[in-house]
Amino acid sequence: HGGISPAWPISYADLEPYYSEAERLYQVHGERGCDPTEPPAAAPYAYPPVSHEPRIQQLADDLRRVGLRPFHVPLGVMLDERNPRTSRCIRCNTCDGHPCLIYAKSDAQVVCVDPALAYPNVTLLTNAYVARLDTGPSGRAVTSVQVRRDGATETYSANIVVVSCGAINSAALLLRSANDGHPQGLANGSGVVGRHYMSHINSVYLALSKCANPTRFQKTLAVNDFYFGSKEWPYPMGHISFVGKTDGHVLAAGAPALVPGMTLELMAQHSLDFWLTSEDLPHPDNRVTMDRDGTIRLSYTPNNHEGHERLVAKLKEVLDPIGCEKHLIPFFSRQIFLGQGIPLAGVAHQNGTIRFGNDPETSALDRNCKAHELDNLYVVDGSFFPSSGAVNPALTIMANALRVGDHILERLQ
Ligand SMILES: Cc1cc2nc3c(=O)[nH]c(=O)nc-3n(C[C@H](O)[C@H](O)[C@H](O)COP(=O)(O)OP(=O)(O)OC[C@H]3O[C@@H](n4cnc5c(N)ncnc54)[C@H](O)[C@@H]3O)c2cc1C
Ligand code: SF4
Repeated sequence: HGGISPAWPISYADLEPYYSEAERLYQVHGERGCDPTEPPAAAPYAYPPVSHEPRIQQLADDLRRVGLRPFHVPLGVMLDERNPRTSRCIRCNTCDGHPCLIYAKSDAQVVCVDPALAYPNVTLLTNAYVARLDTGPSGRAVTSVQVRRDGATETYSANIVVVSCGAINSAALLLRSANDGHPQGLANGSGVVGRHYMSHINSVYLALSKCANPTRFQKTLAVNDFYFGSKEWPYPMGHISFVGKTDGHVLAAGAPALVPGMTLELMAQHSLDFWLTSEDLPHPDNRVTMDRDGTIRLSYTPNNHEGHERLVAKLKEVLDPIGCEKHLIPFFSRQIFLGQGIPLAGVAHQNGTIRFGNDPETSALDRNCKAHELDNLYVVDGSFFPSSGAVNPALTIMANALRVGDHILERLQ
């Protein structure tokens, strides 16, 4: 409904071993067989699911009672609930959207970058801004990388150059690297670089319940029963999960519609704070462009909204009989982001701007995420997605990076 979600040039079977490897590497805690949309996996999760706190367990039981199949959301935290005294993660209330100050979250720095720095042949340059990539006389290879660091420009070169600046900045880098041989930007003979920007249709909804919600770590439950549609609406609707527990300060920043007689603090004490994600579709006019002065511009008109609205309606419908009052308050909807000029969090799930594909006329990268038009340039961040699905993107980006890593290893041998 609403357009086409294009197929990828590789199959799920090509990516599956790397999903399992990424889950192991990033210490993902979860339980196979509970998510009704789960695809086949070669290996079980190496770590058990993160338990629900009592209010969320009660919600899970209530949702099951009305016929849904809530499940433990897979999570990359270094939590050992069987041995709490030695567990690196202390299950605090600041996890969602913040770096972990005790390095217990399985993020790329903790899991990959810091361990890689132990090798003598790995160097990390910080505060280093890649300004442009230059190609040599043949136009078929990136021959130098121009970096601005500490007020000076430095130049680096390598046999293979891998770009991974995130979907907006990678597209911007390729566009601003235009030269006589590549007048539309690097890897952009097809004109797709910067286009088809997606970032999901995301909303946070607060459901106010009479029952208090003193949960610290709320993001443990998800519902995918409406992911592919419902009896009344046979089109994809999306994924329901949670954000971190809100408090009065967070609510004040979002300025939601107030419920008469309730302070923000009281609302926060009683709210269940849902995160709803639906798929946005790749439209060529949703795109990253560069102004003459180098300013990066993002143009985005949301699409495929009906499924999202129906997902919100479904959530309301299932909450009514299980003790949540009828107040479902839009707190952080996409429209509010757009109205405020898209703050940073509005691009959290950015992807799609340097799509991979078999046809150089319609894609910038080949199936190994190498630029069709350049022999030594790869892109391995969220840019490569031809379509975005309706779940968080990080595991797919990690799995694909491992897949491309294997390809590059083979090439180097
Ligand atoms: C608050 C928040 C919460 C999120 N929560 C989740 C979640 O729970 N689950 C999930 O799956 N996803 C989540 N995401 C999304 C997830 O973080 C992203 O999908 C993922 O990090 C994207 O990976 P990437 O490699 O494409 O880009 P990034 O992780 O953004 O990496 C790009 C890197 O390139 C650097 N860079 C950019 N431009 C340049 C340049 N010109 N020169 C040098 N360096 C440059 C940036 O500083 C950055 O370090 C969240 C995102 C945010 C913002
Ligand atoms: S932020 Fe808190 S909950 Fe998240 S990994 Fe760190 S200690 Fe654990």
